Amino acid sequence: MPDTLGEYRRKRRFDRTKEPAGDAAARPRTRRRRLKLYVQKHAASHLHFDFRLELDGVLKSWAVPKGPSLDPGVRRLAMEVEDHPLEYGRFEGAIPEGEYGGGTVMLWDRGSYRPETPVRGADAQDVLREQYERGDLKIFLQGERLRGGFVLVRMKRPGRPQWLLIKHRDEFAEPGSDVAQAFKASVKTGRTMKEIAAGKRARARADGGGDGRKRRATGGRGGRKT
Ligand code: MN
Repeated sequence: MPDTLGEYRRKRRFDRTKEPAGDAAARPRTRRRRLKLYVQKHAASHLHFDFRLELDGVLKSWAVPKGPSLDPGVRRLAMEVEDHPLEYGRFEGAIPEGEYGGGTVMLWDRGSYRPETPVRGADAQDVLREQYERGDLKIFLQGERLRGGFVLVRMKRPGRPQWLLIKHRDEFAEPGSDVAQAFKASVKTGRTMKEIAAGKRARARADGGGDGRKRRATGGRGGRKT
C-alpha cells in the first residue's frame, strides 16, 4: 500500500501539535469491518468542516466551508485536501496558533459509510476506489448526524480538485434543514467549540466518550522531539 501521508506530515510539527503523526501501523481491514466516516468542525483561519472517508488505510479528506447538508437541493463545495491518518478521526482539541491549521477542532460526526449501492461479491473498497478515481463517489453514510445517500462529484477545474457534496433524495433527506448549523456540540464529548478551545473536560455521556487529547498524552506515542 503506498504511503500517501507525506504531505500531511510535511505540513505539521508534531512536537508542537497534538495531532497524530500518522506513523501508527496500518490497521488491517477485514472485509467485515466497516469503513470509517468522520466529520470535524475546524475553526482555523476560516471556519469549515472536514469531511473524511476511510479508503485504503487513510482518510480521504475534503474541506467543506459550509458543512454537509441533508437538503437535496443544496450543493456544498468540498475542496479536496491531503490524506489524513486514520487515527486523526478521533482527534479533538486545539492546534496551536501559528501551526498549520491552527485553531479548534471538534469531532462533529462519526460512523461508517459504504457504497450507496451494495456490492455483492466485490469488496466495497474496490468499488469506492474506482468511483473516487473517476470523481463520482456515490456513498451511503451511517453517521450519528449524517445518514443516507450522498454523492461527491469532482468538478473539472484546474488546480486542487474541487468537489460538490450533495444529499440524494431518500428517506433521510431533510429539505430546508441545515444540519451543520443545527448541531453545535461535539458528537464525542458534548463540548462546544469554546469549551474545546478552553480545554474544558468532556461532558458525561452514556457512551463514555472522553477527551482523546488526555488519553493521547499518556499513550506512550509522545511525538517527535527536535
Ligand atoms: Mn481543516
